[in-house]
Amino acid sequence: MSPLRRAIVEAVRSGTGMSREIAEKVCASGEFDPRSVRGAINDLLSDGGLTLGIDFKLRVSRGKFEERVLFLDIDGVLNGHEFNEASQSCGTRRECVQRLNRVIEGPVKIVISSAWRYMVLNGSMTEKGFENLLRTHGVACQGKVLGCTKPDEVISTREGQILAWVRTHRPLYWAVVDDMTLQLDNFVQTDKRSGLAEADVYRLREHLGVPAHLNEQTKAS
Ligand SMILES: [Mg+2]
Repeated sequence: MSPLRRAIVEAVRSGTGMSREIAEKVCASGEFDPRSVRGAINDLLSDGGLTLGIDFKLRVSRGKFEERVLFLDIDGVLNGHEFNEASQSCGTRRECVQRLNRVIEGPVKIVISSAWRYMVLNGSMTEKGFENLLRTHGVACQGKVLGCTKPDEVISTREGQILAWVRTHRPLYWAVVDDMTLQLDNFVQTDKRSGLAEADVYRLREHLGVPAHLNEQTKAS
């Protein structure tokens, strides 16, 4: 057994916990690269730890690390702020939705940072319901919506809300798309009048850790 796997097994055996806590315990020695540790834990969760002879899934209360997370704003990203008087809401633009679908293709998950998240936060719909709502707008997000950032009443800035989620869940890669100016790394600002543009797709996928040679296809398409 590799030293890394041995360290993970020891951390798991010393008590049940969340995969994040186990990763922290293993990384504390400074002996292992955090990315390798998280990858190894994910691999073990995939096969239930069978290769180690322990029931890994039973002992680890939280599932896989989400590797790639997009923080999604909606107004000014999936639309150009066109307000519909009749429905008293903004809809979405087809071309923006199609571009978003290319950004979230593959193992990319979504966290809602948009004010639209209040539909969930105020209890008028569930996270699953919100995912379904996005799907009715053409967003290819089945099984991808992880949740929402905290409400403004708890954390006042959007940057703070996003960073709080990142600190708690520690995705390997994350990107932020918004039409507001945000002081964040991995951030792509859209034009609020036209929403998500072609050039934004490539930049977001770059932040999401898509290898350059694969991302070139994004650029070309
Ligand atoms: Mg917006």
